[in-house]
Amino acid sequence: MSKADYYQLLGVSRDADSDTLKKAYRKLAVKYHPDKNPDNPEAEAKFKEVSEAYEVLKDADKRAAYDRYGHDAFKAGGMGNAAGGAGGGFHDPFEMFREAFGGGGGIFEDLFGGGGGRGAGGAQHGSDLRYDLEITLEQAAEGTEKEIRYNRAVSCKHCSGSGAEPGSKKVTCPTCGGTGQVSSNRGFISFRQVCPDCQGTGQIIEKPCSHCHGEGRVMERSTVKIRIPAGVYTGAKLRSAGKGEAGHLGGQSGDLYIIIHVAEHELFERHEDDLFCEIPIKFTLAALGGSIQVPTLFEQGTLKIPAGTQSGTTFRLRNHGMPHLRGGGKGDLLIRVHVEVPTKLSKEQTHKLEDYAEACGDPANPVSKSFLEKAKKFFR
Ligand SMILES: [Zn+2]
Ligand SMILES: [Zn+2]
Repeated sequence: MSKADYYQLLGVSRDADSDTLKKAYRKLAVKYHPDKNPDNPEAEAKFKEVSEAYEVLKDADKRAAYDRYGHDAFKAGGMGNAAGGAGGGFHDPFEMFREAFGGGGGIFEDLFGGGGGRGAGGAQHGSDLRYDLEITLEQAAEGTEKEIRYNRAVSCKHCSGSGAEPGSKKVTCPTCGGTGQVSSNRGFISFRQVCPDCQGTGQIIEKPCSHCHGEGRVMERSTVKIRIPAGVYTGAKLRSAGKGEAGHLGGQSGDLYIIIHVAEHELFERHEDDLFCEIPIKFTLAALGGSIQVPTLFEQGTLKIPAGTQSGTTFRLRNHGMPHLRGGGKGDLLIRVHVEVPTKLSKEQTHKLEDYAEACGDPANPVSKSFLEKAKKFFR
C-alpha cells in the first residue's frame, strides 16, 4: 500500500517552517478528529495520517531522513518499526493532537465542550447575585446608607459546609474508586473526566447532613448594609464582596452587585450631573425684572431675572447640580423660565393694559416693528 506524501497530506510546501506545519496540522486534526466525525472510518484514517505526517515533519532529524529516503526511512531498522501497519512506530495520534494543542486540557476541552467550572477537589465558586435598588434623586444627591434584605445560599452551619452529618465519616467513592476521575468514551477515544458522583474529591458522604441534605449550603435571608455614595446614577453598580452565594465544598463566595435606579423627580430632570427645571414666571416680572426663589436640592437659591427676559430663557446656576461621583464638585442647575400670559383679567387690569398698549403707540397692530418689516410682503 503506497503512502501519501507527508507534505501533501498537510498541504504545505517542502520548505514550510515549523509554525506553518503546526498550523496546517491543527486545522486538519480538528477537521478529522473522531469526536467530530463519529462512525466515519475515512476521517479516522485521515486523522491518523495527518498526525503521522506531522510527527515526522516537526522533528528535524526525522524530517531530514524523510526528505532523503521518503517513507523507507521509517521501515524496520530505521527510526521506528513499520511492521504494525499504519501508525506503527509512531505515537498515538491523540497524544500528538493533545501535544499540538498544549496539553490535555485547554483548547482540547474547549473544542469539544469538555471541562467545566469546577476547581480542584470539587470546590466551586459561589454565584454572584444582583439586587436592583431604587433610590430618590435626593438620596442620590446626598449619598445614603441602605439596608438590603435578600435570599442567598450560605454555608450550612450544622455541617460547616461539608454536607456530611457531624460524626459521620467520608467513604471512598465507589464510582471512581477514590481517584476522582472516570474514563468516558467518545467515539473510539477514551479520556478521563471528573467523577460526577464525588466531583473529583474521591470521597462521598456516608450520611448526608440532616439540615442541608448533603448540599453543604442552605438558603438564608441575609441583610447587608451598603453605603451609597453621593452622585450615583441609574445603572451604577456597587459591589459587596463575598455577599453572593456561598461556594460549594469550600469554594469562594460570590459577590453581591447592587444596581442603582434613581427614581424620576417631580421637579428636576437629570442630564448627567446637571439638573434641569422649568419655572413659570409672570409676564410682568419678565418685563420689569426682579428676583425669584428657586428650588434646589441643597439649599434655597435666588435667581435674578433681568428686565426684558424672554420666555424660554435658560439661566445657569453653577454648582447647584448633582455632585460628581468621582473627583468632587457639582454639576449645574439650569432653570428655564416660561413666561405666563394671564388668562383672566379684572376690569381694572384690562384698563391698565389698554393704557399700556396705547402708550406703546400702536394698539391696533400689536406686533413688533422688526417682524412687520420682514413679514410685509407676505401680508396680502
Ligand atoms: Zn468518585
Ligand atoms: Zn449541612
